[in-house]
Amino acid sequence: MELTLGKNKTVTLKPWKTKTKKDFLNIIKKKEKNLSEEDILEVLINPYVEPNDIYFSDDELQWILINLRNISIDNNMKFLIECSNCNEDILVECKLLDLVQFRENQYPIIKNERGWKDIESLQDYKKGIKQYSDEFPKNIEMLMHLDTVEGKKFNSLAEKIEYFEDLDLLEGNKIVDEYNEVKSKIDLSYKTKCPHCDYEGKYIFEELPNFFEPLLPKEL
Ligand SMILES: [Zn+2]
Repeated sequence: MELTLGKNKTVTLKPWKTKTKKDFLNIIKKKEKNLSEEDILEVLINPYVEPNDIYFSDDELQWILINLRNISIDNNMKFLIECSNCNEDILVECKLLDLVQFRENQYPIIKNERGWKDIESLQDYKKGIKQYSDEFPKNIEMLMHLDTVEGKKFNSLAEKIEYFEDLDLLEGNKIVDEYNEVKSKIDLSYKTKCPHCDYEGKYIFEELPNFFEPLLPKEL
């Protein structure tokens, strides 16, 4: 299936094979559940996504993973939530994709005189994160997405860091907010009304769904 992550970003997904589950469970056993992002990429994502040598943000990776699960295994969800008002259990039955909202990235876009783009090279991304790993990695990632300011391009990532660090704090925060508005975004929150007391609660799935086991939500 085709999955759109943004205006200039579409990938093709192929369903998992029976060996995928075996490989995944083996890795969990070996690493005693300390799965890294690399493990997930290697076993669950890379062999089933084309192209797989481009940059994906964390939210895009989650969306890819959820869609791979959706086309590969039973997507009927059944789980219990404890109502935070009356403490009774609420049984929820739905489809996997009913639990997720995804907003595609908006790149390329110019907002408030700033141009934003997707990260073009996975290698540049990895290099940048490695080189500046002592600084805030999320800000480094954000700056890699920043393309121009008032039409002017930067010559290097170092130049962008210098520009960002020299901004007034208020202006810097505005840039972070703007980035959050234009990047792809996944929302794993789920609203439900308690059949026992009518309380309307919003619950969130904390992490990536645990892929071969039931999902466990907690209240927001
Ligand atoms: Zn209730």
